[in-house]
Parts: sequence; structure tokens; C-alpha cells
Amino acid sequence: NTFAEIDLGDALNENIKRCKYVKPTPVQRYAIPISLAGRDLMACAQTGSGKTAAFCFPIISGIIRHCGLRQRPARKARIANPVALILSPTRELSSQIHDEVKKFSYLTGIKVAVAYGGAPMYQQLRDLEKGVDILVATPGRLVDLIERARVALQEIKYLALDEADRMLDMGFEPQIRKIVEQLGMPPPGMRQTMLFSATFPSEIQRLASDFLSNYIFLAV
Ligand code: AMP
Repeated sequence: NTFAEIDLGDALNENIKRCKYVKPTPVQRYAIPISLAGRDLMACAQTGSGKTAAFCFPIISGIIRHCGLRQRPARKARIANPVALILSPTRELSSQIHDEVKKFSYLTGIKVAVAYGGAPMYQQLRDLEKGVDILVATPGRLVDLIERARVALQEIKYLALDEADRMLDMGFEPQIRKIVEQLGMPPPGMRQTMLFSATFPSEIQRLASDFLSNYIFLAV
């Protein structure tokens, strides 16, 4: 019933302690073990439920465990090759997720970057050039960066879609599909996808059946 009992690894557990998270919220209690076991997940969870940590912790823990510390670009790399991608509908939400991921990646060596629309691209490009393991992005800006060949998604092992219903309401479905097409077809079990949504209408059910394989459905 505490984070210490979940096998997230020492570095992440230290950060969780430092941030004074002691007890997992219900969505965390169920989603984190499912994701750590390598399963795809469709979770219905509201804002305020602790859903951000529910998808961030398994990603951070998984990168430390399975991806190791990747070779850093000796020079600035023109194309960023993240291993984890978190899509969210708005600049505000992306920024909040970015803050949360940074807090919990502290001293792990994991590099985190954020890219959202409605802001100049210059600073975002400079951050991307430093190398990125976890990229938090809004769909429109990410498609733009892919088309400019500044981000490539072939190495993505973890994909999280946050507030998927809101992304669809905002008309992002074509961009999301384009992004997922970029990921290519990994061997089964080589990529893990987590879909979070407050509601579960037929459009989200369709995304789930298109993007997830053999997934577990969680409603809290
Ligand atoms: P979220 O639903 O992810 O936006 O999280 C809502 C708020 O709860 C955020 O301010 C988090 O920092 C906080 N929070 C999430 N999980 C926990 C936890 N297990 N213990 C304490 N605070 C938490």
C-alpha cells in the first residue's frame, strides 16, 4: 500500500520519497503494476486522480531498467530520438507533465524535453538538440517537428496518450494517427502503449483497438 512496496527501482523510489508521495492513488495502485508487467493499458481516470504519475513512473522505471543510459550525442544532434513519448492536448497540460517527469527523473540521467504549439520553436529546438529520452508534446507541434526532421520516433518504446478524449474533441485525431504511423511496427512486446481518457466513448474505444494490443482496461 506504499510506493516502497512497488518495485520501481532505487533512483525513482528516492525521488518519490523526496516529493513526499507515500501512498499510491487508486489509479496508480492498479496502473503501475500493469505497466511494469509490460502490458498495454486503457485507463479511464479524471484529472486530479494522480494519472500523471500513473504513466510517468513505469516509463521512468522502464527506461532505467531496460534502455540503460543511452549514448549521448557527442555533438548536438539535429534529430532527436526519444524512447518515450507522452502526448497531451494542451500547452498547459504538457508543461505540467514535463515538470512532473523532470521531478521524478532527477539524478537518473534521463533527459526530458517538451514541445507544444503557441510558443516559438527556437528554444524547444535547442532543448531537443541536447538529446531526449522522454518527449512530452502536443500533437500539432510534434507533427511539425517530424516534418522538419527534428524528431524521429523509430526508437519509441513507451507511448502514453493523456486526456485522449480531449485531444479528439480538439480535432487532433489525424495528427495522432500520423504520429502513431511514424512509430513503425515493432516486434510484439517491444513497445508499450498507455491510453488515458476521462471518458470512454466509441471514438476512444476505436483508438484503443487500433493502438493497443492485448490491453488491460482499468476504470477508477
Ligand atoms: P494528476 O491527476 O496527475 O494531475 O495529479 C493531481 C495532483 O496530485 C498533482 O498535484 C500530483 O502532484 C498529486 N499527486 C499525485 N499522486 C500523488 C500521490 N501518490 N501522493 C501525493 N500526491 C500525489
